[in-house]
Amino acid sequence: MTERAETAPRRVSIFGSTGSIGRNTLDVISHLGGRDAYKVLAVSGKGNTDLLARQAKECGAEIAVTADETRYGDLKQALSGSGIEAAAGKAALIEAAEREVDWFMAGIVGMAGLAPTLAAAGRGADIALANKECLVSAGELFHREIESGGGRLLPVDSEHNAIHQVFDNSQRHSIERIILTASGGPFRSLNLDEMAAVSPDMAAAHPNWSMGVKISIDSASMFNKALEMIEAMHLFDMRPDQIEVIIHPQSVIHSMVGYSDGSVLAQLGTPDMRTAIGYSLAYPKRPSLPIERLDFARLARLDFDAPDESRFPSLGLARRAMEAGGLSGAILNGAKEVALEAFIDRQIGFLEMADIVENVMDKLGTGGEAISIEAVYEADDTARLLARELVANRSARPLVN
Ligand code: NAD
Ligand code: MG
Repeated sequence: MTERAETAPRRVSIFGSTGSIGRNTLDVISHLGGRDAYKVLAVSGKGNTDLLARQAKECGAEIAVTADETRYGDLKQALSGSGIEAAAGKAALIEAAEREVDWFMAGIVGMAGLAPTLAAAGRGADIALANKECLVSAGELFHREIESGGGRLLPVDSEHNAIHQVFDNSQRHSIERIILTASGGPFRSLNLDEMAAVSPDMAAAHPNWSMGVKISIDSASMFNKALEMIEAMHLFDMRPDQIEVIIHPQSVIHSMVGYSDGSVLAQLGTPDMRTAIGYSLAYPKRPSLPIERLDFARLARLDFDAPDESRFPSLGLARRAMEAGGLSGAILNGAKEVALEAFIDRQIGFLEMADIVENVMDKLGTGGEAISIEAVYEADDTARLLARELVANRSARPLVN
């Protein structure tokens, strides 16, 4: 990347700007100096073109891209007279991601985030990584792309951001384990019969964090934590047996690192994604943000509990994928995304999501070596196809309304 003067606004792109992470990113930028400090190059979204156009105008973006080609006319119309470029479709998303910036927010949800993020990484941007699928599906390939581009990888997922804050790279050899905290979601204390009957609306209501619908439901099934285990293994180059999960309902400790002298270092804070986003934006400096400060006296207590893998089989599936390696992460994730859509569409019940993923993993094994991005996409496609068949063939059973 070219050298830039300290005072020049940092050039940034925000992919998935219309989502929960994207909106929080724009909010953080506005608190940290707005247009004087940051030059927003690209914003992107999918369905909500009105919001996308409004965001582009407010932050003075050069280009706004919707992933949905059928929305191109709407977006162009909403941006008319603003001088902001409108674009649509997957290729346009990648083209915009290739435009040189200093910092790139990877805030697109799901596998759709992989190609644009890889494009930005290859161009040398610092990648603020909220999207989990880049590492879960294509861990080593993604690292390679970051290395060849020369940018930094800054985790935004709150757990990984917390670990990044307390992971002493100079003492790498003395790090024994990573302890990911999990709120346990809204169904932490339900039994299996009760879990079988929950609706998508119930699953989308997270007790502590305000997030997009898909990640909220993934939190309820703990597939979110499953993805995060794989993400942590790739991010911090750990063995599968070095990644632990502990239920911590208050979501105050965002994760921990255990050292060989028995010390455990933790990062704490109120559950607000703007801390992690601000950390990744200002790194290695600490920005000043209006985050609610922790009040320990009011908090009074922190609880912990071992996760129950019989009620949350997603965690065991993650461990299996981590140990198997190859394309297992892509297979788990592809099957999970189909199962999640099917649950949202009320085609399958809550507990059937894990059944479908397990079935697909049984049938496809490791899927071979993750030698190329094409191989990752192929494993993802195959897993999705099989998962769709399983959804279609599921025995007729009354579903929740
Ligand atoms: P969200 O659903 O609120 O927003 C997703 C964004 O991606 C939107 O801008 C949407 O328009 C865009 N998008 C959706 N489908 C797309 C497609 N096919 N092509 C291109 N763009 C598409 O999700 P979110 O909660 O902001 O999460 C974004 C990512 O960050 C996810 O991968 C999630 O796992 C991760 N994450 C989110 C949080 C959080 O607090 N929200 C925390 C940690 C990690
Ligand atoms: Mg998280």
